[in-house]
Amino acid sequence: MNSGSTDIDLLIEARWVVPVEPHGVVLEHHAVAVDKGAIVALLPIAEARARYVPRERVELGEHALIPGLVNCHTHNPMTLLRGLADDLPLMVWLQQHIWPAEAKVIGPEFVRDGVELAVAEMLRGGTTCANENYFFPDVIGATYRRLGFRAVVGLPVIEFPTAWAKSQDEYFERAAEVHDSFRGDALVSTAFAPHAPYTVSDQSFERIRVLADQLDIPVHLHTHETAHEVEEEKKKSGLRPFQRLQKLGLVNDRLIAVHMTQMTDGEIAACAEAGVSVVHCPESNLKLASGFCPAEKLRKAGVNVAIGTDGCASNNDLDMFGETRTAAMLAKAVANDAAAFDAAYALRAATLNGARAMGLDAKIGSIEPGKQADLSAVRLSDLETQPLFHVASQLVYATGRHQVTDVWIAGARKLAGRVLVDMDTDGILARTHAWRERIAAIDAPAPVMA
Ligand SMILES: [Zn+2]
Repeated sequence: MNSGSTDIDLLIEARWVVPVEPHGVVLEHHAVAVDKGAIVALLPIAEARARYVPRERVELGEHALIPGLVNCHTHNPMTLLRGLADDLPLMVWLQQHIWPAEAKVIGPEFVRDGVELAVAEMLRGGTTCANENYFFPDVIGATYRRLGFRAVVGLPVIEFPTAWAKSQDEYFERAAEVHDSFRGDALVSTAFAPHAPYTVSDQSFERIRVLADQLDIPVHLHTHETAHEVEEEKKKSGLRPFQRLQKLGLVNDRLIAVHMTQMTDGEIAACAEAGVSVVHCPESNLKLASGFCPAEKLRKAGVNVAIGTDGCASNNDLDMFGETRTAAMLAKAVANDAAAFDAAYALRAATLNGARAMGLDAKIGSIEPGKQADLSAVRLSDLETQPLFHVASQLVYATGRHQVTDVWIAGARKLAGRVLVDMDTDGILARTHAWRERIAAIDAPAPVMA
């Protein structure tokens, strides 16, 4: 051992490192030193070799090392409903296919198996953190914890009985129990997840506001998803949903507002001023013909814009590379400006901005000393990403998730040479197939195509 050198757990040497912070920087021939799950240094490879004695050294000579991608809005148990019904109007899709199927299968086993399939898919696509929103958050959180995957688990609140809770009081009692059970957990934390303004009462929102402040957790909800939603709320309360949330005191830096396809300039300014995070879910919005989030206007106004896939029933994948590309392109189209939502910003939206929305930006989202080692390695030597002029644009505009080779969460290797570490892939596929048989038997026959 060299005198003056330090023992560490892991040294990852990469052709390129995209730290995301500082913004727009791409480092060449740099190494990330990791010890006890955290990043201890980011420095040139030669210096790293002189300074550290790693127990494991990984050489990524053809790769870009990036922060693990952060999927800021998803319903991962619904991965088991992928492709059940497509190309249908929103209400036909929901009322005739998704809800009836869900009603028959929802429960702890469905939730556990859906999340496990989702974790496998996310890891193979370079995603290391999910902002989750579904029923049975106890089982969801336990599954993420067991698999060593980072997540913020939504505590659902909705104004009608479900398999998870029968009354308003029960939703809140169970939310408190689940929150307590994950207090201090290294990987899993919680957020309130009121479904949407049109399914949650003022009274519940008031309870959520008080409790979210006390527990110091985010509030994650769908809103302004469609023009129809905004019109219906105006008929009911005389207010736009956002105005109602403002009146209830929920427009603040805890709020994670998902979709936001309908926004006035005043609402955009209010989001910026209050520190609201907006989650852009372009593929779900496009597929359900919901509308277009003004992502570039939000960015310009200084709003924290993150990216989410939404659930697999409306996407139909958890591919954050694909989603980030779509987000950037849609933002350009909506802004009528090719320079809008550039590649460096798109990468930031898919990493650090998602972390910030979830209150995790001190911990993850960029490759900086002191942060957790949540990292993804992307092989850029494939012919699909050659020739290579600009790393950030290649990652956003040309890279496919199949180019993700290795993934770490809190310094633990989760994907090695595209193979899932410590996950029973055959078992996941067998359970998924069993669910497929059960769900196909429930779902009404698909309409015959002419
Ligand atoms: Zn959603």
